[in-house]
Amino acid sequence: MNAAAATHHTNCLRCGRTLTSAKSMAAGYGPRCARHIRTAQVDLTDYKPHQVQSARELIEDGAIVPLRSVIFITVSTDGTETYRTAPTACTCKAGLKGTRCYHQLAARLLLAA
Ligand SMILES: [Zn+2]
Ligand SMILES: [Zn+2]
Repeated sequence: MNAAAATHHTNCLRCGRTLTSAKSMAAGYGPRCARHIRTAQVDLTDYKPHQVQSARELIEDGAIVPLRSVIFITVSTDGTETYRTAPTACTCKAGLKGTRCYHQLAARLLLAA
């Protein structure tokens, strides 16, 4: 859990529909969109299991929010910083070094959903 989890969303981040349950508001996704995201097929061969786990937690915490087209705003684990994340680039420390970070993976999962 991180600071972003305290944010409550009123509309689904994926389809824009009004969210009704507390669980959906905390996650930022309605049940149908959450299922799409959980089952999204992405090539994970470049990622370690803990990165996949972190990417899913980022999504479940509502800590990755679409900005425009393939660009997302992601929140750092301690909730103090935000990054701009695309499927192949990110402004976090790892991303700037050219490393594939879990933010990028989360963006890929959301775009594949
Ligand atoms: Zn939705
Ligand atoms: Zn990153």
